Amino acid sequence: MSDKIPLLNVLHSHATTPTIIKKPKNKPVRKSSKFTNEHNFISADAYRGKIYTKKTTGYFQRLRKKFSFVLFAVFLLLPWLQINSAPAVLFDLQAQKFHVFGMTFWPQDAVFLVSMLVLAAFLLVAATLVIGRAWCGFSCPQTLWTFLFIWVEDKCEGDRNQRIKLDKQSWSWSKVARKASKHILWMLISIVTAYTFVGYFYQIMPLILETFSGQLHYLAVFWLMFFVLGTYLNAGWLREKVCLHMCPYARFQAVMYTKETLVVSYDQQRGERRGKRKTADDLSTKNLGDCVDCSICVQVCPVDIDIRDGLQYPCIDCGLCADACDTVMDKMGYPQGLIKFSNESGATSKTLFKSRKVIFLTITSLLCCLLFAYSVLDRDLLSIDVIRDRSGILYRVTDQGVENSYTVKVNNKGAQVSKFKLDIVADSAFEIIGQQLIQVPRGEVDTLTIRIRIKEQHVQRYKSSIKFVVKPIASNTNTEDTVMASQLSSFIAPL
Ligand code: SF4
Ligand code: SF4
Repeated sequence: MSDKIPLLNVLHSHATTPTIIKKPKNKPVRKSSKFTNEHNFISADAYRGKIYTKKTTGYFQRLRKKFSFVLFAVFLLLPWLQINSAPAVLFDLQAQKFHVFGMTFWPQDAVFLVSMLVLAAFLLVAATLVIGRAWCGFSCPQTLWTFLFIWVEDKCEGDRNQRIKLDKQSWSWSKVARKASKHILWMLISIVTAYTFVGYFYQIMPLILETFSGQLHYLAVFWLMFFVLGTYLNAGWLREKVCLHMCPYARFQAVMYTKETLVVSYDQQRGERRGKRKTADDLSTKNLGDCVDCSICVQVCPVDIDIRDGLQYPCIDCGLCADACDTVMDKMGYPQGLIKFSNESGATSKTLFKSRKVIFLTITSLLCCLLFAYSVLDRDLLSIDVIRDRSGILYRVTDQGVENSYTVKVNNKGAQVSKFKLDIVADSAFEIIGQQLIQVPRGEVDTLTIRIRIKEQHVQRYKSSIKFVVKPIASNTNTEDTVMASQLSSFIAPL
């Protein structure tokens, strides 16, 4: 028996072209298969019919369940979470500010958003290099919601065989009840999904209250309907077709695969020649491999492919076929792992994580994440924007001296204090005319309009530099703290 799983010649095939599958030696061509033809090609067009996925249990299914539970819980709870009486996560597009765990990001912080997207892309590429499409199989929302909908289908209509039988039956009250219950539950999940998702952009409590009072903004209504329909159609009806025909990641992930990438693969040398047998049969005399040709690995596959045909681009590396096959191997008394996560050099998930490439990618990913976290946490929590009033005249000359007007915007991006004092630092005797104290709650912006004045006899030059500074005022002691934000501006006066 061999640990080495040959990856077939499809690793770098383009998704839109037919995938050529190498026919294993001694392997009978499955004439009944709907996706093979006499040239043994697999094309995207072949994946059209309804797929009845068989339920299975095993290591990967348990792992995905735990992972899904955490991801669903995070997705559903985050819009409800409050930090300091403000939503923990809210992408308020109307106010052009994003609240993320007590921090507020403004359009000028777009660099963090861009860095985050670049980091996410890097992590996805690094993960694909190591564990293939594990993102698709274990954390992609399309997969998680599809598996949830299949679970509902299973509860309402029964297991795979019962569902096939039900679909073949003529309509009866029992069939209507089963189908209706499934669609009602699908719709309820879609509604909860839509409200939760929109709740990331529009506060969720007002969203619900306005729905019941009939005062919901037409844009919110549009997006709610869009996501209800999108979830219902994608997870209920389109399912694997989204991965096959719509997902851009599926189209280019093959180019990221290397010989070391772990993918779900079938141990051809161990499994072939496949064939039916009894548990007590002597395989050497029958010239049989370990595959009992039960086709359970195909029945559990959510994209309806036969992993024994080799690596195929529709495979989302969900590991269901590996779980199903392990169950069969256990029943037959054979070792598990006829189908498993493995790479071309025979490494499995246990050995791969010791490879230099994986260690390098892991350390680089961790460093990038730490760098990103540091830059976010170290950003300025307060900023000011000073605009000298240029409308009309450059300066005003009065009995008291020369004056310039300014508009000062104070932006509290996440500072704990909300009371600030505006001051100036300059080398001449300037004074501020107008309000210097300002209240800016966390996540808000406020504007001050002030004048700066200097007595005529103190004017030294046409253009002087003035530094505007903002100091927080401690609420309990009312004392000024060190400068939190500053900006340089200029003062114009006649010579
Ligand atoms: S589940 Fe395992 S034994 Fe059954 S057909 Fe698939 S590979 Fe062969
Ligand atoms: S072949 Fe196996 S790993 Fe790939 S999608 Fe089908 S069940 Fe999942």
